[in-house]
Amino acid sequence: MKITKKIPDSFKTKTNKINTRDLVIPPSEKTNIHNHHDREYWSVKSGEGVLYSNNKKVKLTSGDYIEFSPFEAHTVENLGNEDFCFTSYWYVDWESLLAVFDQEQQFDSKLMIETAFPTPNGPLHLGHLSGAYLISDIQKRCCELIGIEYFSYCGTYGHTNHIDKTAICQKVSYDNLVSRSEEAIFTALERFQVNYNSFLPHFPSSEEFQYSKNMFLNLLNASPFLIEREVDHPYSEASKEYVCESYVAGGCPQCGEITIGIECENCGLYQDECNLIAPFHSVTKENLVLKPVNRLYIKLEKEISDKLLIQMYCNNNAMSRVCYDNYNKYLDKGNLKYIPVSSLRKKVYLYMVNRFFL
Ligand SMILES: [Zn+2]
Repeated sequence: MKITKKIPDSFKTKTNKINTRDLVIPPSEKTNIHNHHDREYWSVKSGEGVLYSNNKKVKLTSGDYIEFSPFEAHTVENLGNEDFCFTSYWYVDWESLLAVFDQEQQFDSKLMIETAFPTPNGPLHLGHLSGAYLISDIQKRCCELIGIEYFSYCGTYGHTNHIDKTAICQKVSYDNLVSRSEEAIFTALERFQVNYNSFLPHFPSSEEFQYSKNMFLNLLNASPFLIEREVDHPYSEASKEYVCESYVAGGCPQCGEITIGIECENCGLYQDECNLIAPFHSVTKENLVLKPVNRLYIKLEKEISDKLLIQMYCNNNAMSRVCYDNYNKYLDKGNLKYIPVSSLRKKVYLYMVNRFFL
């Protein structure tokens, strides 16, 4: 990123088809941080903005020209009292793009490609395929084409009561629903010609699954950020048991909409069922009371969340920038401070201190 008082020399206005757009950022607003393959410059018309790019923070005023290299991330925030107005000009600069491509060929380790694990409570639909599996498959095929070594993996995501709930509705056992759904998931991925270096099925549990699970739990148990807290947890007086995850519905503490205790369908923010307003049972509609219980949490210290933010910001790709913005949104709302890592089933806890049962 470079700031000048005239149109940047590197911007070939005569030989390229230039796109242009006028932008207005109202006071206290900012643009989503993003990057792209186009060569771009901005011409500031009025107002005052703060630009974040290339790990730098610079004040912008009327008359400034700002030049961005392809893939250079940028966001601008209006900290003044008037609108911040600028015009953006851009075009595709193939020469610069090929130079970036040459640099990126020089990976010294394998690229890890992870796809969101499907929940084995039914078959995949087109939304799953186009949303998660297609994009990782494109990345994988792209690596194969340009010779980047990669390791791709996926699996199924069990132990949530989405599965319990569906199994009850369909009058089948948990195991039966999981194995039937996994078979349907495998078939869909096969038909879609998606495959992975490693796929961790949840049931019947494979050696790879056991190995990965134990490795993860050992790391979790050893983590200095794993803490035990007493919390008020939704409880059913009728069945005399704690109620958890998607069995709990209630008002979202962020947006007020009725949601379930996992993630709000309306605002997309993560929910701890203990924080839902006026909780009730999502199936029986019984109003739930709150009863204290000890639960395990990961405490996300500011130092750790800052490190993660920097890591995301420095990864020079658009997806990391989307994650950066969303992660910031979670942090701003304060709902990642304590992340529950144990869950209640029936009347007992699924863990004893320092020993998880799965
Ligand atoms: Zn919400």
